[in-house]
Amino acid sequence: MELPCLKDFTLPQLEDWMESLGEKRFRARQLFRHIYVRRVTAWNECSDLSKTFRTQLEYGSRLDALRLLESHRSQDGTVKYLFALQDGQRIETVMIPDAPRTTLCLSSQVGCAMGCGFCVTGSLGLQRNLSTAEIVDQACQVQKLLPPKQKITNLVFMGMGEPLANYDAVMGAISVFTDPNGLDFSHRRITLSTVGLVPQLRRLGRESPINLAVSLHAPENGLRSQLMPVNRTHSLEKLMAACREYPLAPRKRITFEYILMGGLNDQPRHARQLVKLLEGIRAKINLIPLNPHEGCPFHRPEEEAVLHFQELVQKAGYTAIIRQSRGADIEAACGQLAARHSG
Ligand code: SAH
Ligand code: SF4
Repeated sequence: MELPCLKDFTLPQLEDWMESLGEKRFRARQLFRHIYVRRVTAWNECSDLSKTFRTQLEYGSRLDALRLLESHRSQDGTVKYLFALQDGQRIETVMIPDAPRTTLCLSSQVGCAMGCGFCVTGSLGLQRNLSTAEIVDQACQVQKLLPPKQKITNLVFMGMGEPLANYDAVMGAISVFTDPNGLDFSHRRITLSTVGLVPQLRRLGRESPINLAVSLHAPENGLRSQLMPVNRTHSLEKLMAACREYPLAPRKRITFEYILMGGLNDQPRHARQLVKLLEGIRAKINLIPLNPHEGCPFHRPEEEAVLHFQELVQKAGYTAIIRQSRGADIEAACGQLAARHSG
């Protein structure tokens, strides 16, 4: 049987586990600090724990959930890491340096069930959900590989998978990320991107103040359903109603991601429809020119169309930023993650 991985536990869960082992609850906080603050690699480094307890941990649990297989550095400094999971499945994590920030793009599933037509991860189908440990360990392992002075400052759930389709494991990871005895990130530095699973999106609003990004990509149902099958279940009306009612802190906005595809959704009428759709929502818009992959039936937009689209959205009073994906030369850009072995 597989040993329990300590990175699977939130602090309250670890406290319960300690109690069930006959240990004091405060041991959990000690363990958390050893794992996430001191980043120990072996229990014999922890002299404040009794020898018996250390032995128990050594033989009864494990610390790592991922094993690094490969890493690739892009000309622009972006690094893509390929990790193996215990069962041999593989995932990718992308580190994007953008001084003074270092952003880590996390995967939440192996593959994805949502089947968006423009996304390589979608073409893999869903292999399985990641555990909390497998999400948390992406941040731990990458941090260990970075130079001591370079700290991960931001976390985004924009890698492989649909995070809201793996709600509990993702929330567990967020709990470890934000715990003061864990990795101690502020909620403001964590962003979750979703295609818009409406019930889970509403639940997220009630349960966590992290930043929300919604992948929109089309301003009307016909086109959106064609690009993103999820729209047939969670229509734009339902999605936008949930966004309108989303509990946002003062001065906070929802980010809407909009991949521009040549001739398909990049025309002035689409920009006008988009503006209308966002009416009454505190929103900012990220315009992402499509990264086409082999076999992708869609095209990159003309530069002129991108600029005109941006102008129309800005004129309506919204912030609209054109996001050139980083790391395209190593297939680390948005929508390019397939966790293929290069060797
Ligand atoms: N499943 C979630 C999060 C992962 S995808 C979601 O879809 O929101 C992260 C971002 O990459 C999304 O905005 C997604 O639409 C974008 N993306 C996917 N394929 C892309 C492509 N071919 N070109 C550019 N962006 C892409
Ligand atoms: Fe899944 Fe997001 Fe890719 Fe769609 S864009 S298939 S939801 S990972």
